[in-house]
Amino acid sequence: MPFECRGCWHVWEEEYVVRHIEDAHGNAGEIWLRAGLPVPPPSPGAICPHCGSQQATTFPDGYLARHPELIPPAQPVAPDATPLLSPVRKPLY
Ligand SMILES: [Zn+2]
Repeated sequence: MPFECRGCWHVWEEEYVVRHIEDAHGNAGEIWLRAGLPVPPPSPGAICPHCGSQQATTFPDGYLARHPELIPPAQPVAPDATPLLSPVRKPLY
C-alpha cells in the first residue's frame, strides 16, 4: 500500500496482508498483518519513516504505477543494443 507524507512529501510503500475473518456470531471483520504480525489498519496515522510525521496519507493500490515520477529509478536504464540505423545495402552496380 503506498503512503505519502504530508510533511515532507516522502513516498513509500509498505506491504500489508488483509485477512477477512468471521467470528462465531457471523460478524465479519478484518485483520491487518504486516510481516506476519497483526497491526492496526494503516490509515490514517501512518508514521513517515523519513521525518517521523504522522500526517501521512495512503493511496489506493496502483497509484504509484500511474505516477512513476514519484518513485526513484531502481536501476539505471540499460543501453539499448538495437542499432538505430538499418544496415545500408550496397548498390548492386
Ligand atoms: Zn515525512
